[in-house]
Amino acid sequence: MNVNTAAKITQQLLANGHEIADTDEEADVIIFNTCCVRNTAEQKILSHIALAKQLKRHNPNLKIAVIGCLSAKRKINGVDILLGTDNAMEVVEKLGVALQPLPPMKEDTVYIDITYGCENYCSYCIVPFVRGKLRIRPREEIIAEFNQVKDTAKDIYLLGQNVNAYPDFPQLLAELAQMPGNFTLHFLSAHPKDFDVETIKVMAQYPKIAHDVHLPMQCGCDKILKLMNRKYTVADYLEKVKLLREYIPDIHITTDIICGFPGETEEDFNETVSVVEKVKFSAAYIFPYSNRTGTAADKMPNQVPFQTRKARATKLVEIMRKMS
Ligand code: SF4
Repeated sequence: MNVNTAAKITQQLLANGHEIADTDEEADVIIFNTCCVRNTAEQKILSHIALAKQLKRHNPNLKIAVIGCLSAKRKINGVDILLGTDNAMEVVEKLGVALQPLPPMKEDTVYIDITYGCENYCSYCIVPFVRGKLRIRPREEIIAEFNQVKDTAKDIYLLGQNVNAYPDFPQLLAELAQMPGNFTLHFLSAHPKDFDVETIKVMAQYPKIAHDVHLPMQCGCDKILKLMNRKYTVADYLEKVKLLREYIPDIHITTDIICGFPGETEEDFNETVSVVEKVKFSAAYIFPYSNRTGTAADKMPNQVPFQTRKARATKLVEIMRKMS
């Protein structure tokens, strides 16, 4: 999503005569489009912003803009423009450039937002607090954007924090997959609780839909899934994997896993390891649990020491590496 927003902002500025600077020192404007889903991302951005602020000493005209999740979460001093995720595009106007309707860029890979925000409130996740409640993009807008890119794009991604919360998602997918053009259609990210057999059938039926799906499992232990407020069990998840493989034998399933969530014992972690070995994911994004202030998990008892979270993540990465 951030890549998508950044591309749109860049396009608007380029259309108004701005150029991309080769170095930070040469820039008149530095825009940080931020993500604060994990603490490490937040700390990294803060140190980049601190460096940019130092450049202002040599170039007093330098403007620094911070947009996205981080600015929705906290105040950042010493920058010129601060905008959250909903109004990130306003950065263009704040830099004195009038926003204009531009055709989408002719890129091979195109991202189209279909939902914004999320209200699942998984207990570890800051997204509902920084991106707001679920909003559905009007169907006509999606179709219009799709029509503009379908003849030139190779890969089109439908995007949403919980993409299949879109009402009647299988029907939208089927409709877009029947459009003329030489594209492959993908969607990101599906929530396992909303991922249904109808979607799988549509994926199997239309050749323009990619045989890949990112289905974040997060953990393979029911006790922890409940604490995570994920609203599915390991059995539910495995059933969806089974159906996917029945209908689409060459499906690539990728996932996200959090290691060392509060309350996770060595046994709980081993349950996750066995599910990962069983499913044989094509790839997995594995991270140690990251505390986010304001989320329910941050206040839970039995926080796992950071070294243990890291050790478990490293172990699982190694298991995945061997399997893939
Ligand atoms: S569904 Fe995804 S974005 Fe929404 S709260 Fe859960 S982890 Fe966060």
